[in-house]
Amino acid sequence: MPRYTSYPTAPHFHDGVQEATYRDWLAALESTVPLSLYFHVPFCAEMCSFCGCHTKIVNRYEPVARYLETLEAEVDLVASALPGRFDAAFVHWGGGSPTMLGGDDWRRIHDHFHRAFSIGGDAEMAVELDPRTATQDYIRALAGAGVNRVSLGVQDFNDDVQVAIRRVQPFAMTAQVVAWLRDEGIDAINFDLMYGLPHQTVDIVLASIDQAISLKPSRIALFGYAHVPWMKSYQKLIDEAALPDAMARFAQAEAAAGALEAAGYRRIGLDHFARADDTLVRAQDAGLLRRNFQGYTADEASTLLGFGTSAIGALPQGYVQNDPDMRPYGAAIAAGRLPTRRGVALSDDDRLRRDVIERLMCDMTVDLDAVLRGHGMPLDTLDADMDGLEPLVSDGILQIAGRRIDITPTGRPFARIAAATFDAYLASSRGRHAIAV
Ligand code: SF4
Repeated sequence: MPRYTSYPTAPHFHDGVQEATYRDWLAALESTVPLSLYFHVPFCAEMCSFCGCHTKIVNRYEPVARYLETLEAEVDLVASALPGRFDAAFVHWGGGSPTMLGGDDWRRIHDHFHRAFSIGGDAEMAVELDPRTATQDYIRALAGAGVNRVSLGVQDFNDDVQVAIRRVQPFAMTAQVVAWLRDEGIDAINFDLMYGLPHQTVDIVLASIDQAISLKPSRIALFGYAHVPWMKSYQKLIDEAALPDAMARFAQAEAAAGALEAAGYRRIGLDHFARADDTLVRAQDAGLLRRNFQGYTADEASTLLGFGTSAIGALPQGYVQNDPDMRPYGAAIAAGRLPTRRGVALSDDDRLRRDVIERLMCDMTVDLDAVLRGHGMPLDTLDADMDGLEPLVSDGILQIAGRRIDITPTGRPFARIAAATFDAYLASSRGRHAIAV
């Protein structure tokens, strides 16, 4: 079941969208509208066996340095394809592991990007950080480059679980990195935690939640481990006998959510939790919560430009994705071409369904009449899709009043099933809900 970080979802991108289309879309952007920028670093120092990311292990800095030069060249190419100089309100570095970059490179890249875009002091500069390789000097370099939000990969603090997923990262190490971040004035700290990992039980998950809460992160993302060894070969290293079954996963997710809410964290969408002072809570209260490739976000920019291998951009006209392979990606940029591999142009129907799906995924409710009016569409446009919701009403996942759909508190884990009902690309969007947990 898709996670709906985009609509249409990435499997429906196609190679009919290439560089020429992306250049047309860039040229048509309004330079008064701020951008969101995403930079992908496809390298890690060692492979965690649970990983589902697009990354490669390197043990020398030379490929990283070469990649950064290419990334800078890509930024210049895209900036020169834009009709003017744009503000960037949100900047996000993900991977892989951006912690692979050297401290000096952060300073140089910071200067380079400031030449290409106007990145104001109030912009959110977010970086994913691997506590195992972060040093105090490195964190100083991040702060010096203007980074003001950091996401730490944690997963679980239990020793047995960490060994089973080949990511040994003791609690003291994470606590030290959090202290260094706060020393440098970076207090917007996210933790990524997981349930459904090998050897996890409800008690182990709850112990990790307690330890996480003791460090007072501003956000916690709680993801279910997706075991897909036929797609991610490193996952073959995970002992399948040690994986919790579907019921155990559900119990872990619900227990963790309950503990976080009891500790004062607000539940955001499907799998995020935030302190009352976090921007996600303010966005949710204002009805402005959004969903993008990083999950839930307060980022209001209507255009996201993606840089680096496999990076996805979301423009008003549609989605574009860069080549995921290093060689063609680098060759395109060296030849002065944008490395667009595929994408999809949005139809009016796509835009309508994207809004309905985003509101369901973010707010757990949607007023279809309001969305249809906003799109200038007849109010009965989605009536046939509404018929598909009946089994979810019978199962207590939804309540429907007129054309208003509310996902019930117990139905929240199944929000993706409700969203899928409006997915015109999904061949079978009427499946039973157990597969989405
Ligand atoms: S989980 Fe993160 S650090 Fe580990 S291999 Fe994947 S991207 Fe790299």
